[in-house]
Amino acid sequence: MEQTPDRQQPSLSELAPARMAEELGIKPFQGRQIFRWIHQKKVFDFDQMTDLSKGLRKTLSENYSANKLTLAEISESPRSKTKKALLRLHDGETVESVLLRDRDRITLCISTQVGCAVKCTFCATGMSGFARNLSPGEIVEQALYLLAGEKLGDRTPNIVFMGMGEPFRNYDATVESIRLLSDPEGLGIGARKMTVSTAGEVPGIERFAEENWQVRLSVSLHAANDTLRDELVPLNRKYNLDRLMGSVKAYIESTGRQVTFEWTLLEGVNDTTNDIRELIDLVGDTKCFVNLIPYNPVAGLGYTPPPLPVCEAFRDALAREGIKATLRVERGQDIDAACGQLRRRHLDSR
Ligand code: SF4
Repeated sequence: MEQTPDRQQPSLSELAPARMAEELGIKPFQGRQIFRWIHQKKVFDFDQMTDLSKGLRKTLSENYSANKLTLAEISESPRSKTKKALLRLHDGETVESVLLRDRDRITLCISTQVGCAVKCTFCATGMSGFARNLSPGEIVEQALYLLAGEKLGDRTPNIVFMGMGEPFRNYDATVESIRLLSDPEGLGIGARKMTVSTAGEVPGIERFAEENWQVRLSVSLHAANDTLRDELVPLNRKYNLDRLMGSVKAYIESTGRQVTFEWTLLEGVNDTTNDIRELIDLVGDTKCFVNLIPYNPVAGLGYTPPPLPVCEAFRDALAREGIKATLRVERGQDIDAACGQLRRRHLDSR
């Protein structure tokens, strides 16, 4: 599938079939054919698109590229089979994406920005700073690279927009990439299989509530009081817990959908009985699910995960209050699968 994209040429990976036909001045069925080659067969070389006429293939090769990313590094954990891809953008920037396996279930964790300006204090991506937004094609191609060579059969992967970046600070491209990923001529991923995760960008949550779809919303909480959250997630200084929870409750009210709260467990920081109490008080009356994630340590940041019994006690205390919660078993630690770590290592080695 590998084809080095020409940075001058427009990429076709971010055009839906009808728009592709319109922009290229070709027949609608030809737009669908090209879209299928790129998104279903993950073929980026026009010469391999054998059901296109020779003339069309030549025109495409001379004027367009099918992809915007190339593979810089891919690794697979021998233990968990977690797959991690470091992808190079046409301007030399890099972005990372992860494929996680849980029995038969495949989940792709993809990025929406190069770096991140939110600067959560426990996050490797936050350490690297913000470079730029990704385009819809650059977001979608991450899924294509991760799925190339995977035998899916009748399984549909889940997609979480939870890699590098704050998706709601790149709202339009994130929405367009969701449309491309769900297109039946491509991967055809159902809306309910996709989750957008925000650190608390309130205007994005308000827009998201207006979208006419079933895509899921996840909010990275990590703290249930403003003092601690101001420190861990600096975005809280702009949109404090009161505003954040107000927008989440309005979202639930208008969509009827459940929200997932992410809570990265940090030893001695947000794993105490007091933290549990505050979290119960904050979310106990919302239609929610809590995802507890023991921290995956990043060198130089000084945080560690709590011991497993502390994590389990946190989950059980929520359950006793009727709050659905899971403790995510760590996967891929051995291949730097925490947010932004592969890219960070890559940057450090330059
Ligand atoms: S945790 Fe997410 S929002 Fe926070 S700095 Fe990292 S990438 Fe950005």
